[in-house]
Amino acid sequence: RGILYVVATPIGNLADMTERARKILSEVALVAAEDTRETLHLLNHFGIAATLVAYHDHNESRVAPRLLADLEAGRDVALVSDAGTPLINDPGYSLVAAARERGLTVVPVPGANAAICALSAAGLPSDRFLFLGFPPRTSSQRRTWLGEVADEPGTLILYESAKRALATLEDLGAVLGEHRRVVLARELTKRFETFLSGQPRELIARLEADPEQQLGELVILVEGRSLDPDEGERIEQERVLRILGEALP
Ligand code: SAM
Repeated sequence: RGILYVVATPIGNLADMTERARKILSEVALVAAEDTRETLHLLNHFGIAATLVAYHDHNESRVAPRLLADLEAGRDVALVSDAGTPLINDPGYSLVAAARERGLTVVPVPGANAAICALSAAGLPSDRFLFLGFPPRTSSQRRTWLGEVADEPGTLILYESAKRALATLEDLGAVLGEHRRVVLARELTKRFETFLSGQPRELIARLEADPEQQLGELVILVEGRSLDPDEGERIEQERVLRILGEALP
């Protein structure tokens, strides 16, 4: 029987493509891609000729049985998404689950992932973290959603479009408190890669002063809840004193 390879691709910088990913994509019978045009562009860049099949949220119930039949018939299949690691806020979960249920071999081919990339360089605690994916689009739903993780002590990791960064920062401050450290990791591995760090209000001011920071792709990292219940209050007092100190002659 064939092998299902779950292949990570770059999140912006094509030099992050691994040698193993290139080898496997050039050897498999079929490449199941979230967006065949995006993947074709990637494959062309590396001079790889492959047979592509579209596999995305809207056709997966129709295409998955066909891919499973191909695997059963001994053909190897590689699953890729537009960027980064498949299944991580990208299609593939039901295919991998169905393949596992049938006892097929599923092999991960690791590479780029925006969440881990951001965490590795943000300077927030990395020993424990909670990956949350995309927040809901409306503010009231987002606040409820953030409220559910307010007590998590690990670093929170969110995916977001930079366009919505201001609105999300407002809600982060309102629900999790204004004293937590937040890191905005934008355009990772690309030309305008930027890390901005500060409390929600400081970051809002920086984004308003520089609208370029509201463009592109973004990972938001938020320091977890402080384990010391008095610490939040102490940080807030220090902040108020600092602001007063700056304002007074
Ligand atoms: N599967 C991908 C991964 O492994 O990271 C994530 C796909 S998800 C549909 C796309 C989101 O990931 C973007 O909206 C952004 O939040 C984040 N992302 C992807 N590439 C990024 C980059 N180069 N810089 C910052 N964030 C990125």
